[in-house]
Amino acid sequence: MCGYCGVGCGLTLTASPDGTLTSRGTPDHPVNRGRLCTKGSTTADLLVSGGRQTTALVDGEASDTTGAVNEVARRFTALREEHGHDAVALYVSGQMTLEAQYVANKLAKGYLRTNLIESNSRLCMASASTGYKQAFGADGPPGSYDDLDHADVFLVTGANMADCHPILFLRMMDRVKAGAKLIVVDPRRTATAKKADLHLPVRPGTDMATTATPTLSSSRPTPTTGRSWRTTSPTTRSRRSPGSPASRRTICAPPPNGSGPPAGS
Ligand code: SF4
Repeated sequence: MCGYCGVGCGLTLTASPDGTLTSRGTPDHPVNRGRLCTKGSTTADLLVSGGRQTTALVDGEASDTTGAVNEVARRFTALREEHGHDAVALYVSGQMTLEAQYVANKLAKGYLRTNLIESNSRLCMASASTGYKQAFGADGPPGSYDDLDHADVFLVTGANMADCHPILFLRMMDRVKAGAKLIVVDPRRTATAKKADLHLPVRPGTDMATTATPTLSSSRPTPTTGRSWRTTSPTTRSRRSPGSPASRRTICAPPPNGSGPPAGS
């Protein structure tokens, strides 16, 4: 299995007699069905690359790594002596091992003497986990990747799947090519938004008002099942957000042309 992200793609590493290593998507794996993104497909390159970094640049000048580390330490020390320990804050990866997290915390609290360390684990998943628990009773995403193969409509809110989760994006797009509709709610015209049947470039910070607005309702039948679809019932919508649909649409209205945020991931 690919070790880079939580999508869980099947990865087959093959070593040739001449020592060449190749990485390929496992054709019959239920997650990726043979596909890999750039990270997964370059796994072999990483495994055979020539070891650790041995040189560094300090202000553009070549340096050995020990000298570079000493320079970093000197500058951090000067900053802390001038502004106090909490002048330094660390924002660390959410994908470190427990041991690496321990070392990062030891560096922050034991050596730099700052309490200001935050991990992407919390920023990324805290609100999602809370939402899952409140909505579904457990802090894991509900559903299965197989649902992607049976959906008639996809609603992607504030995520750029094309760049951030390319394998699941491709799987979703297989279904879109078969007739499912894709709606993207995002202030940015991302690579995902460009593929949407309907892109709602809402004003930043208005995602809840957007969800509660009947903009996404339709009485038209879906192309694949013939059933009509509706994202939320009128009762649910009126419970979720005060104000008339018209006033909520005003809240969500995108800024004038050209003043929105740039596309990106
Ligand atoms: S999406 Fe890419 S990084 Fe994530 S598991 Fe699949 S191949 Fe690996």
